[in-house]
Amino acid sequence: MSEPMDMSVVQLPAVQAAEAKLLLQTYERNPILFVGGEGVHLIDEQGNRYLDLLSGIGVNALGYAHPAIEEAIAQQSKKLLHISNLFFHTGQAELAARLTEMTGMDRAFFTNSGTEAWEAALKLARLYAGTRRSKGARIGTKFLALDHSFHGRTMGSVATTEKEKYRAPFMPVMPGVDFVPFNDVAALRAAFSDEYCAICVEAVQGEGGIRPVSQEFLDAARELTRSTGALLIVDEIQSGLGRTGKWCAYQHYGVQPDITTLAKPLAGGLPLGAMLCTEEVASTMQPGLHGTTFGGGPLACAVAIAVIDTLKREAMLAHIQDVGGYFRAQLARLAAQHSDIVTGARGLGLMLALELRSADTAKSVAAAMLQRHILINRTSETVLRFLPPYILGKPHVDLAVTALDEILHQHAPAETGAVPRATHGGTQIGR
Ligand SMILES: *Cc1c(COP(=O)(O)O)cnc(C)c1O
Repeated sequence: MSEPMDMSVVQLPAVQAAEAKLLLQTYERNPILFVGGEGVHLIDEQGNRYLDLLSGIGVNALGYAHPAIEEAIAQQSKKLLHISNLFFHTGQAELAARLTEMTGMDRAFFTNSGTEAWEAALKLARLYAGTRRSKGARIGTKFLALDHSFHGRTMGSVATTEKEKYRAPFMPVMPGVDFVPFNDVAALRAAFSDEYCAICVEAVQGEGGIRPVSQEFLDAARELTRSTGALLIVDEIQSGLGRTGKWCAYQHYGVQPDITTLAKPLAGGLPLGAMLCTEEVASTMQPGLHGTTFGGGPLACAVAIAVIDTLKREAMLAHIQDVGGYFRAQLARLAAQHSDIVTGARGLGLMLALELRSADTAKSVAAAMLQRHILINRTSETVLRFLPPYILGKPHVDLAVTALDEILHQHAPAETGAVPRATHGGTQIGR
């Protein structure tokens, strides 16, 4: 056993050394030790403030130290943290009432994470198809998913995740999953048949690089699944709960799925996921067929209710549309001005991306932003991803865009004659 760390004087190198020795090495962490946060800012152990344009990975929708969340945790912690799913507490029904209204679904099942919500969706699709088969319907057990998809890391979720890197080392994963090229309607029509029990779609692919599905593709997926009685499952774990300026990103398309999944921002930073479905699909579930020890616990539910009520009270969807539209226009301007290294800007609401021509440049730009104490991340090699807290304001956007502009200038190829600007400009976040 190692010596316990003295947390009162703990410094980053000590934590790095201890983790290097003690933890499964699953993450390439940035060398920063965060100890607190306030609003849209994070604070490291030396008291430096960082503008957070990532909010966990799309989790901390209300930012840090939000009074509504602090209050919900304080109140609920005095009552009940956990009760098994063998008994009632008030939180699940109260939260389900809100979520079914927001999503247009009928019933909810609560989990502790995104991947568990997705597993519940896959299992329910199999169960529903099996029930229909037992009544004589021709419907198979396979899933049709999309290239660049990401649905989580457990064996079923990773089986529907296209990226080889996540799936190949763990083969065999759940069999019976095929992939079609993203937004390729002809390929979708050619691939689909009654062998499939569901088509799996992220309305806006997150890990895949902030790629919104096309209207034609989602319409075709809805029409094809209806034609055989298969299900349309839309993963809103990253894009849902207001992130894109609507409660669910599929609402931008006017397409209603049979099952959807939520998680990341649901409980404002506490782990909580939800699978929501129609009455028709839910009717095939029986007590004992699925469950979880922790999922939908009183604390997580109380905080999720506080998060949702705050989003509604503060008209946050309109704010997200407003600030998100402004941010996106600024990114589009940067893309046009730096077309030598940037290929484009895209996204919906506060789920935004700037795509660069090279993965190395993207990595270097994200690192330079971090040096200026602005958190973004790189996904899908060349894509800079922005998933800020919903409470972001336009002045924060201006600050980030000015920093990006300067950094992109510094990364411009020399032959374009771009003049590098000073690194230590006025964009450092105040200390
Ligand atoms: C993050 C994510 C998941 C997995 O969620 P976890 O909580 O990490 O298990 C699934 N689907 C999408 C679209 C995601 O962004």
